Amino acid sequence: MSTRLFRLGRTGLFVAAGACASICVAGPLLTSHVPTPSGWRQHDMRRPKPPVVEPGRALTESSAPADAVVLFDGKDLDAWQSAGGGKAAWRLSDGAFEVSPGAGAIQTRESFGDVQLHLEWASPNPPRGASQDRGNSGVFLMGKFELQVLDSYKAETYADGQAGALYGQYPPLYNATRPPGEWQAYDVAFHAPRFDKDGRLTEPARFTVFLNGVLVQNNEMLTGNTSWIEATPYEPGVDHGPIQLQDHGHPVRFRNIWLRKLPERAAPTAADRHEPKIVELPQAELDALTGVYTRGTGAQAMKVDVTRQGGHLFFKLPFRSSPLEIVPVSPSRFELPQTDGDFEFEKDAEGRVTGVKMRIGDGGKNLLTKLNP
Ligand code: MG
Repeated sequence: MSTRLFRLGRTGLFVAAGACASICVAGPLLTSHVPTPSGWRQHDMRRPKPPVVEPGRALTESSAPADAVVLFDGKDLDAWQSAGGGKAAWRLSDGAFEVSPGAGAIQTRESFGDVQLHLEWASPNPPRGASQDRGNSGVFLMGKFELQVLDSYKAETYADGQAGALYGQYPPLYNATRPPGEWQAYDVAFHAPRFDKDGRLTEPARFTVFLNGVLVQNNEMLTGNTSWIEATPYEPGVDHGPIQLQDHGHPVRFRNIWLRKLPERAAPTAADRHEPKIVELPQAELDALTGVYTRGTGAQAMKVDVTRQGGHLFFKLPFRSSPLEIVPVSPSRFELPQTDGDFEFEKDAEGRVTGVKMRIGDGGKNLLTKLNP
């Protein structure tokens, strides 16, 4: 959340609490809780703190994959702008940049949906302040969902507000932070929310996060936008937005930021969908195809059992527990509806079934010989 909102929110709470002590009467709460699937209240001080894990040795600065969108490589802030508009006015030095307290948040010029994000950050050293007032910044995916940046090394705060938290919703599974001044790495898989054509949410945003190589968020689903003691719903229909970095008044440093835009999984088109054109075969013709088919000899031999159940033909491979149905598309050719495969039965001059050419996927055609044709 923004520095301003945080400070106003906290002040507002104190004012409201003080006023309520003198004038309020007991009654139902007029405000709704922030929905937390865990059952914990937001920022609940009793919520268990994640166990501390010493991360592995710091990696040397990693380089971006070839298809990455490089957002900061140590040279300039050209990919960024002020969240309020205009130039990103944070300080560049030694291949990194630093929050300029009071300058406001900065965000990428480009908007993104599903991404794999890599980002490195370092808390101010020597450390100053306590709890949320200690090395606080944040990475907001789509400008809405905060992955907290905080100096949480041997420093106390509420569980859902420490480094690696999806702020106000999910504490990190572990506290894998490094000491102030040391570079730390976030690696994030972000799945943007999905909406139907009327803007109704169909899939929430999801985060998987590694902090210094330690899994701290495991495919967690957000209940809405990041908020401070407030249930803030998703913005209908919004599934893209900039990567935003928070100015919380602390000179947190950042370097080596890149992301990869993640593709949608392709759904089959009508042309891709294949439905076998099934023909009816007399039961006697199906029975003529049943039997045991083999390829090779000895222990390495492949054996396939072809059986009939009612008007349906099945084959069973020795390594698969149940038989699979094959459906006739001609008197001699059958297809495997579950996947891309076909069976071409062969006959000799007397019309006896002698074998089958079996193909499943890209495995090529295997000629199997029928025992006792
Ligand atoms: Mg923050």
